[in-house]
Amino acid sequence: MSSYAPLLAALLALLFGLAVGKAWERYKLVDGRIMDRRRGRESPHYLLGLNFLVSSQIDPAIDELTKAAARAGDALEVHVMLGNLYREKGQVGHAISTHQALLQRPKLRKLEQAHVLLCLGLDFKRGGFVDRALEAFDEVLRLDPNNPHALVNLEKLHADQHQWLEAYNIRRSLVESSDAADKERHEAILAFLENELGLEALKRSDYAGAAARFQAAIDLDARVVPAYLNLGDVYRAQGKLNEAIALWERAIEIVPERAYLAFERLESAYALGGGRNRFALLCRGLIGANPQDWRARLALSRHQGARGESDEALRLLFEALAQNPHALLLHQAIWQILSKLDFSRALVERYMELTRHAVFYLDPHVCLRCRYRTDDLLWQCPHCHEWNTFVEDRIAPAKEDQELNA
Ligand SMILES: [Zn+2]
Repeated sequence: MSSYAPLLAALLALLFGLAVGKAWERYKLVDGRIMDRRRGRESPHYLLGLNFLVSSQIDPAIDELTKAAARAGDALEVHVMLGNLYREKGQVGHAISTHQALLQRPKLRKLEQAHVLLCLGLDFKRGGFVDRALEAFDEVLRLDPNNPHALVNLEKLHADQHQWLEAYNIRRSLVESSDAADKERHEAILAFLENELGLEALKRSDYAGAAARFQAAIDLDARVVPAYLNLGDVYRAQGKLNEAIALWERAIEIVPERAYLAFERLESAYALGGGRNRFALLCRGLIGANPQDWRARLALSRHQGARGESDEALRLLFEALAQNPHALLLHQAIWQILSKLDFSRALVERYMELTRHAVFYLDPHVCLRCRYRTDDLLWQCPHCHEWNTFVEDRIAPAKEDQELNA
């Protein structure tokens, strides 16, 4: 029996130690009083605040979290969150002073410090203090070298200022530190940055350097259309017409929905290369593969129109109009041909019949991420700064939809 006594004593001591440790973790001495460290989070104000946040009601969320913060004393996360809410409301000065005050606390752990600095960087960014934002994000990376939020924000700041090399280097490190699932996404963005670096080289008339950048972009992501267009332009400027043609044709094979970006280039290159029917064949191939391709019809129509085949040109435009009645380009092209044909009454009536239900708008491209609208296809959204998010917003006439569903 007595041989168990030391063991029992040790066990009790261990339990006592654990209990003290737990209590130490939970309570602390503030102004001579015992405070519960968890009280901030357990306060009903904290939960209420979070509930308001979930339903995007920022003002009541701030009210509740302010009360929770007053009760919690120094609960870091509540104060960090409050600062972030001030920023969301546009009270950038308030956000900055809240986060800066947190940084003055002694005994802040390294990761806590990094997190507060990240929030401060976002405050500066929101307020337009680019240099101070850069400094804050750099400081986060000093404390936490692979912090993905700091890396992404730094990259965007550099990209905003067209500092493509800095942005490129940051995305490169994101590629290196990412797991297999994210790698492809990072590489697709890296490809766009390679393309921007190629354009910079082009401005310096460094053709070899530009070509290497564009090729590297294609190697990173075979779907990066602008790199094909630009590399082809370099080849053409160097007199390598066939290489340029082959490259633009490959881009069309890989991303047929962007084929129209290469149309003008290919049409003139074919004309130089003596391929009289090649452009028409290309367009017919695209229309065959995708009957909704109105841009290939428009290009083919212009091509045929230039050869004096007005009837065929107009027929193609009417077909294209059925696919996309909102494209102003089509209407302009149609009126040009109608005028050439002296406004044949039958043709004008056919046109009016086709357009009866169309409502016009000018900005058919929309960002999938933030819904920003624009006339032209953009590779980077000027609003949310994401890459390659634009699609063409098209409305088919109701009658056609019914036919498709029938
Ligand atoms: Zn956007």
